[in-house]
Amino acid sequence: MDPKTILAQMTLEEKAALCSGRDFWRTKAIDRLGVPSAMMCDGPHGLRKQISEGDHLGFRESIETVCYPTASALASSFDRNVLQRLGEALGQECQAEDIAMLLGPGLNMKRSPLCGRNFEYFSEDPYLAGELAAAYISSLQSKGVAACAKHFAANNQETRRMSGESKVDERTLHEIYLPAFEAAVKKGGTRSVMCAYNALNGDFCAKNKTLLTDILRDKWGFEGFVVTDWGAIKEKPLCTAAGLDLEMPGNPNSLGEDLIKAVQEGTLAEEDLDKAALNILKFVCDYEQLHDKNATIDRDECRALSRELAAECAVLLKNNGVLPLDEKANVVFIGDFALKPRYQGAGSSFINVPHPVGALEAAEGLNVRFVQGYHARQIEPDAALIAEAAQAAKDAQVAVIFAGLPDSFETEGADRKDMRMPAGQNALISAVAKANPNTVVVLHGGSSMEVPWVDEVAALLLVHLGGEQIGAAAVDLLYGKKNPSGHLAESWPKKLSDNPSYLNFPGENGIVEYNEGVFIGYRYYDKKEMDVQFPFGYGLSYTSFAISGLQADKTAMKDTEYMTVTCSVTNTGSRAGKTAVQLYVRDVESTVRRPVRELKGFEKVELAPGETKKVAFALDKRSFAYYEPKCNDWFVESGEFIIEVGECSRTPAQSICVQVEGTLTLPVHITMTSTIGEIMRLPKGAALFQQMMAAHKPVGDTDISAMGEGTKEMMQNMMFEMPLGALLSFGAMTKEQLEGIIAMLNE
Ligand code: BGC
Repeated sequence: MDPKTILAQMTLEEKAALCSGRDFWRTKAIDRLGVPSAMMCDGPHGLRKQISEGDHLGFRESIETVCYPTASALASSFDRNVLQRLGEALGQECQAEDIAMLLGPGLNMKRSPLCGRNFEYFSEDPYLAGELAAAYISSLQSKGVAACAKHFAANNQETRRMSGESKVDERTLHEIYLPAFEAAVKKGGTRSVMCAYNALNGDFCAKNKTLLTDILRDKWGFEGFVVTDWGAIKEKPLCTAAGLDLEMPGNPNSLGEDLIKAVQEGTLAEEDLDKAALNILKFVCDYEQLHDKNATIDRDECRALSRELAAECAVLLKNNGVLPLDEKANVVFIGDFALKPRYQGAGSSFINVPHPVGALEAAEGLNVRFVQGYHARQIEPDAALIAEAAQAAKDAQVAVIFAGLPDSFETEGADRKDMRMPAGQNALISAVAKANPNTVVVLHGGSSMEVPWVDEVAALLLVHLGGEQIGAAAVDLLYGKKNPSGHLAESWPKKLSDNPSYLNFPGENGIVEYNEGVFIGYRYYDKKEMDVQFPFGYGLSYTSFAISGLQADKTAMKDTEYMTVTCSVTNTGSRAGKTAVQLYVRDVESTVRRPVRELKGFEKVELAPGETKKVAFALDKRSFAYYEPKCNDWFVESGEFIIEVGECSRTPAQSICVQVEGTLTLPVHITMTSTIGEIMRLPKGAALFQQMMAAHKPVGDTDISAMGEGTKEMMQNMMFEMPLGALLSFGAMTKEQLEGIIAMLNE
């Protein structure tokens, strides 16, 4: 089937009808032309395939299948290979279930710890999110199944998620909120993008031409199709004109009358409708061609994979040596989550799992007993359960508390109210830690939490929402069958009010201003030199590593060139393990405000005890650039850059300095309000200013050359802030002379 040939045979009515789905999950078929209907389904950390009635909130039934770790867990692996293995497994399952497209990954940034859907998103860092998303997408699609990068764009909260407006300045949008989508398009080759519900800078995303056409298609070269988030459509003809292709969910009775009318009345160009229909046809024709009717899936293998991946994602946040546990140790497991683990979030991503595995079940055969400690639905402390747990802890060698955020705290459709865990769990942890110094906490949740008891416990293991095998993975890690190797993909502030979005989350009257600009997550905490609970990139292991020999293949480069940076990593401990080597770049001096450091490379390295491996990173223009709205492009300001490598953002192991020369020049726009300082930064301006200084006494009758050094500097600083127009007031030149100078500077 050739999409263009089919399009040429379609009537206006058929094209308009194709632009909205048949039902909750399928596109419309065109029997006359042999065009089949293609099915999509939610996930993306499993399949939520609904066979009978559909819904987009995860209420109604879907097939029983395997749930993998959610995105926030996956990102903590810092491992492209983890995402690749998952993408392949899901691609195979989609083929076996006749699913043409899996609705994910979710690529929104974790702007605030409170976003109810943080568990579905990768990180606060766009580079990390983009790299991992690209790995997931390309491997899923290698199986002939389309990915759908969502929710495009700046959909960073659930409050007013369907009607609110995000206001984000251009630089911030390009540096923080768009790059993960850009990587999904350019590197991952995503075949679909889902537009977000919210409005962005004045227009709903579904009819935002800047987003859907100027950026997505014209700038990034996207060739797939854009689907609405479910029910995100506003005025359909305007959406189609802006670059939207498919409306979901569809309605069998909707025949696209609004689009037909708009074309007939001339308010929508038929060409725009053709583009949308063609993009959908391409997807359906690919499905027809790539669908493997004989595909099968072995769900036991998938479960084993889920268990392995969950272990790769867990982050060891504290360990005074109590971990790993001895298999013979007399241990008490405490808390509801040891029985019924929290392993995924609620909403459209909800996967129907027949049998999630809790840690208690996984610990069968080990010397482990269980006490309740708390019930997940109970927020306030239960004195009797706490007393029983403390007593049990006293009688055991080690107490392991399975704690974290209950279901109701993290869900699509609602934001968290604060960063706290239930008071009952906090009280339980403190009481148990008092009863037994060997207290370990295993923490469940999709985003950062306040951990007021952290100094009281001996170890803290974050298992995120690690999928249906979370309990088995936790036991593998606690007892050292696996060595923790995850690193935090989001900073953990000490308290909510430390977070940069605090004053502007979730906005007012439906409008949320992203006033913190590019300073989200560690970009902010580092700039403010603020203490955090756990920094971005942090994660411990049962072994130790040393990084050495950092070097670049050149000391200077132009921004049109590439640089290879290498270092060596050695496992200096006595166990095999993995670490995430992270590379950060900082601009030593810059005209615009820039973060102290930004992640520009990472590699997960596996090492036997004593083993050393070399790690290489390729850096290019984007590693050094910021987004400059004056030229609508990435811009490198020439100068020195420091390259840091380490196992965490806050503690670089090594650093080197390189020179990078920017090859773009910024457009000059001098006006009467430009300051003398600004023109001094232009080569032409500096020369001119020297001449002016020689010819005039620019500030009244004062002779600067006769002044003392300190006064001279002060006068000069004052002058640098003076607008050019003010020279007229001081009689330094005529209006005509000044206008001539401005014209010359702008040439
Ligand atoms: C969610 C999407 C999801 C869609 C379909 C929406 O409410 O925002 O992420 O893919 O429903 O269920």
